Amino acid sequence: MDYPPVAPEEALRRLKEGNTRFLAGGHSLTALDLEKMRGELLSGQHPYAVVIACSDSRVPPSLIFDQDLGSLFVIRVAGNVVGPSQTASVEYAVDVLKTSLVVVVGHSGCGAISAAVKAILDPELHYSPSMDMLVGRISEAVEHDDTFDSAASVDAKCEIAGLANVHHALDNLVNYSEIIRNAVNSGSVKLVGAEYDMVSGVVNWLD
Ligand SMILES: [Zn+2]
Repeated sequence: MDYPPVAPEEALRRLKEGNTRFLAGGHSLTALDLEKMRGELLSGQHPYAVVIACSDSRVPPSLIFDQDLGSLFVIRVAGNVVGPSQTASVEYAVDVLKTSLVVVVGHSGCGAISAAVKAILDPELHYSPSMDMLVGRISEAVEHDDTFDSAASVDAKCEIAGLANVHHALDNLVNYSEIIRNAVNSGSVKLVGAEYDMVSGVVNWLD
């Protein structure tokens, strides 16, 4: 089977269409469809998009984008943060699998974001060492952020931190990795941020 490269714009279009299908109930596959698909994928994977998402069980990328086996290269971690492991995973997808679109998708009501906001508001608060490291990555996103500092409520701060954290994750990918930076600069890869609304099921795309 031939796999022509998928352009970033086409990849984004597929994800948008997939979320629209998800909202309408998603498509269903028969056991035979899945058997055929597994067989076709035995020779290798050609995912057209990388999705970095939170581990939250209510935000599974293949479901919210209504995608089949082999379509998405998914990286999940609480708070959809980007550190060395996530960067290396994206490098593999971009460099080896030639995936052209990388999406970081945050979500409303994120527990990791709430934990980070709590820790920012109470410097005495500490979680486990590993958890402190994770919320630290989220906190970096709103360092010296006047909008965050002046937000009146904890909910408003969580909303601001959630969006800032998506942008911060995208920035980290470019700053940490020469491979990703070069691919973005040459136009062969596009990085996009998004946020999933847990109430409506809609994926909102960020500028
Ligand atoms: Zn979350």
